[in-house]
Amino acid sequence: MKQEQPFEKSEIILTGDRATGPLHLGHYVGSLKQRVSLQWMHEQTILVADMQGLTDNAHNPTKVSSNILNVVADYLAVGIEPTQTTICLQSQLPALAELTMYYSNLVSIARLERNPTVKSEIKSKSFGRSIPTGFFTYPISQAADITAFKATLIPVGDDQLPMLEQTNEIVRKVNKLAGKKILDECRPLLSNAPRLPSTDGKNKMSKTMGNAINLGASEKEISAAVKAMYTDPSHLRVEDPGQVDGNIVFTYLDAFHPDKKYIDGLKSHYKQGGLGDGTTKKILEECLQDMLRPIREKRAEYLNDKAQLINILKKGSKSARENSEKVLFDVRGIFGLNIF
Ligand code: ATP
Ligand code: MG
Repeated sequence: MKQEQPFEKSEIILTGDRATGPLHLGHYVGSLKQRVSLQWMHEQTILVADMQGLTDNAHNPTKVSSNILNVVADYLAVGIEPTQTTICLQSQLPALAELTMYYSNLVSIARLERNPTVKSEIKSKSFGRSIPTGFFTYPISQAADITAFKATLIPVGDDQLPMLEQTNEIVRKVNKLAGKKILDECRPLLSNAPRLPSTDGKNKMSKTMGNAINLGASEKEISAAVKAMYTDPSHLRVEDPGQVDGNIVFTYLDAFHPDKKYIDGLKSHYKQGGLGDGTTKKILEECLQDMLRPIREKRAEYLNDKAQLINILKKGSKSARENSEKVLFDVRGIFGLNIF
């Protein structure tokens, strides 16, 4: 999906995270960092997606409920500012579920089956034929989330591109039915690390796969994760020339190290030979420790005051609830149902 130049005007931003675990480095570099800077210029809503979290966890709902405040603490710890960003809880916004019902009538099973992200998630979760209906249809509920706020810009990882395409298809169908523009199409905002791999390089870093370095990771956990990181298997001796492509240490250095010129120099050195994996890992570890230390400390402070986190979520949900009712009214009207 084409990514256009953002920031031409004031955008409406909507993003969210499933409450399926604490947030990790993939969230940080794929979306959270952008949200932090965007919030000062644009209208931003962030959804803690508890209902979407349940679509593959209904047998274990505490996994979702116990992570709601963790996610809010992660937001605050990285610099999301509740006076600038509305932080809300998906299940507290009934308009989203209602919109999902209306939109469901506009999307075929065949179209849902073609969504490549859902397809690969179904495979990795080994659902077989027992795919929960809510999981299969979650792209429709994401369309409801996005359109309820008339969002135009969505800072996401690249796994979400098929969801935005599907959202825009729904938007076009709704507008066609209405005979005028009721809903807005949205576009993605990808970062320079739109799919951070896990430390073994095998998969996308994700909460559910248990392969993540969390934002609240301890010093020891960070150190162990970097030490176990996949590099270049054919780089056996320090003096051997090494491969940078596919070397996860360099993928992470590209994603997180603030000095790009320095990393370019390291890469040339590594390719020539004479630079050991122990040294590159040490540089990466220091960079991650420095970056995560203040986040970990703030996160722990926020989690010490759960009442404050609940208040932020309550306040944000109230304002988002009112906001989302407007689009619901318009969509209901298209189907001729605003009869009283
Ligand atoms: P789950 O395993 O429960 O699906 P997740 O780790 O995939 O969790 P989500 O809540 O699904 O996280 O994703 C929230 C946002 O973070 C989305 O915009 C997604 O694209 C982005 N994101 C998640 N993981 C990564 C990653 N590894 N790299 C870049 N962006 C990511
Ligand atoms: Mg996900």
